Amino acid sequence: MSTRVFISVDMEGVAGVATLDQIVRGGHGYPRAQELMTQEANAAIRGAFAGGADEVVVNDSHGTMDNLIHDRLDPRARLVFGAPRASCMVQGITREDTLAVFVGYHAAAGAHGVLAHTFSSAFTELRVNGQPMSEAEVNGLFAGSLGVPVGVLTGDDQICQLAEKAFPGITTVAVKDCEGTSATSTLHPQVACERIEAAVTRAVSVGGVAPIAVPESLSLEIDFASPLATDLAGTVPGSKRIAGHTLQRQVDDPAELLSLVMSWYYLASIGTHQMASISLRR
Ligand SMILES: [Zn+2]
Repeated sequence: MSTRVFISVDMEGVAGVATLDQIVRGGHGYPRAQELMTQEANAAIRGAFAGGADEVVVNDSHGTMDNLIHDRLDPRARLVFGAPRASCMVQGITREDTLAVFVGYHAAAGAHGVLAHTFSSAFTELRVNGQPMSEAEVNGLFAGSLGVPVGVLTGDDQICQLAEKAFPGITTVAVKDCEGTSATSTLHPQVACERIEAAVTRAVSVGGVAPIAVPESLSLEIDFASPLATDLAGTVPGSKRIAGHTLQRQVDDPAELLSLVMSWYYLASIGTHQMASISLRR
């Protein structure tokens, strides 16, 4: 049986990244952050192949989902990039995958952590069955539903602490410590990459991590930052408004959960200006 490794790479949890200017396309720090993200992706790819992978798929998992510098990526890996896509940060993962690796991840909206948020700045908290969840946990549920364990997570110290509780047996690499929402004490990129490569090599070669269990019943709740965002997202059939800024809906499985997160995300992103132009177009 061949060994296939799926790697989702976000940007907020990469070593040397801490400011808004670095994570938004057009910011002065963005090209540097793209380089750092690409280096960490390569470190994970090298680790996967060194650990025995026959095939590696990388998912560009940040913002526009088009940040990694393609011609500098390890040519052995295949790349999933661009948006929108229903499974977002875990698009491309399959039942054939041996292990999932989350690189550059960050804490949830409302939690302490470098550039902490959950999928969108329009969400102030995301809960599954009443429990606040980070992107790592939502994506981990999706992986779990396909029988794929999350073997390694890298990011700041905050998301690493959370991941160790959420994913029994996971290896984490804290490439930086949180010193505030947009402040960090970081490892040198070279050191971060060496640790990521070693962790992934070990996790792929040793294996033995179990996929997380998916609850039988799944209820998604999101608190939105504005009433308009709540109104827009509430147009998705089945969405229940359970508080002024909160929507809830029961879903069948993690795939539907993620797809609903995406629908609410895109609708909530429609701003007041776009609303005005939609109304005028009639
Ligand atoms: Zn991101």
